Amino acid sequence: MASQFSGILQLTDLDDFITPSQACVKPVKLEKKPGKSIAKIQIEDDGSYFQVNQDGGLQKLEKAKITLNDCLACSGCVTSAETVLIAQQSQDELYKVLQHNKQSSAEQTVVVVSVSPQSRASLAARFNMSTSDTARRLTAFFKNLGVHHVFDTGFSRNFSLLESQREFVERYQRKQQDKKALPMLTSACPGWVCYAEKTHGDFIIPYLSTTRSPQQVMGSLVKSYFADQHNLTPKQIYHVTVMPCFDKKLEASRSDFFMKQADTREVDCVITSGEVMKMLEQEGLSLNDVEPAPLDTLFSSVREDELLRHEGSSSGGYLHHVYMHAAKQLFGVEVKDITYKTVKNKDFQEVTLEKDGTVLLSFATSYGFRNIQNLVQKLKRGKSPYHFVEVMACPSGKVNGGGQVKPVPGRSSKEVLEQVEELYRAEETRAPEEEAAVEHLYQTWLQHVGEEKARELLHTGFHAVPKNTNGLVMKW
Ligand code: SF4
Repeated sequence: MASQFSGILQLTDLDDFITPSQACVKPVKLEKKPGKSIAKIQIEDDGSYFQVNQDGGLQKLEKAKITLNDCLACSGCVTSAETVLIAQQSQDELYKVLQHNKQSSAEQTVVVVSVSPQSRASLAARFNMSTSDTARRLTAFFKNLGVHHVFDTGFSRNFSLLESQREFVERYQRKQQDKKALPMLTSACPGWVCYAEKTHGDFIIPYLSTTRSPQQVMGSLVKSYFADQHNLTPKQIYHVTVMPCFDKKLEASRSDFFMKQADTREVDCVITSGEVMKMLEQEGLSLNDVEPAPLDTLFSSVREDELLRHEGSSSGGYLHHVYMHAAKQLFGVEVKDITYKTVKNKDFQEVTLEKDGTVLLSFATSYGFRNIQNLVQKLKRGKSPYHFVEVMACPSGKVNGGGQVKPVPGRSSKEVLEQVEELYRAEETRAPEEEAAVEHLYQTWLQHVGEEKARELLHTGFHAVPKNTNGLVMKW
């Protein structure tokens, strides 16, 4: 089966990949008793594992089942385990919850779907319609299936951008005392984060921005704020996101985003744009046939029923937002337009703020594995000139995620990508600080939960994953 994860995950740790012929076995930890050396493990031809005791006796070891969490715990089994990942987070799981709600008169699960701007652009390209029209028809499609609310992760991205801006200014101000405060590397792409944690671990982690991605901010909004407002426990909500890639399934499954007390995930299931296509096909529908429904405006960025985007790249506009505000906040410079300078290829671009011949800010975008590898090497050699880098695993960024809708026969991927980008850019823009609902949530919800809790809801942490050489499970 061809891998559906981002190129960077497929390229990472090739040596570690378990070949498809091998069973994926969760390693068993051996208890070392005082005075006794550790027993050996013998693998039989049929793949069974035996513990060889000191007296030569064999004890069969149980084959453990791999759950999604276990799968992410080891550093090498992404390829073999992807069928597990996909099965545990797929449209079938969503259908199961919807079916349960239909059949049971007892407790109903509130189903929330949050759609990413890149996914709506991908579906818009497939059905030749505007992104807002697509969003209205998707809202109707999901609601007809029994979904209760359909939101837009463009809304939660406002928090991601504002928090990234604050984080950058704070890091910039402590750059003399903390050698790893800069460059700040964005962390909204789980393909890149997974690569960074597994391959460069403790070296790279301090550089990663702790600001949560839009998907995981939406997780906080839905399972924390929305649940409180509706007198629901987080577990009574089933939260699905629609994303441009499979790597987002990895992100949702991270232990950092599991609400221990409530015993639930902030995002229960991630389905890709392509999986939404499959759902439409399963229902025998084209989006063109679905009557549009009004958008759910609670967590959506809209102006007169039209969805809005952020300025800058179609991967979220992190560089744009942070650069404009850092220039103003740190140097009092009002930037009107940003000039991007292409370095080597279109996926590596630089933006520089200069005053009297002195470089004040040096920012870059780095998309795709090759550029990321170069960036990391520069950092390791102490030769990176950057203060901030927007990093994405996919060449051309998020609109080109591996989970986007595949081109119909006769259309090239390049052609479709251009159309998706164009549709994304056709949306009008609004700056995060101009979004009244976001300001309101900062003033009410986040002040109410307290500074520490607000940090927890909008930020996260990272963990170096040692290579899986000793057979012990390392948590991702
Ligand atoms: S760049 Fe975006 S689409 Fe590509 S792997 Fe990262 S999160 Fe997914």
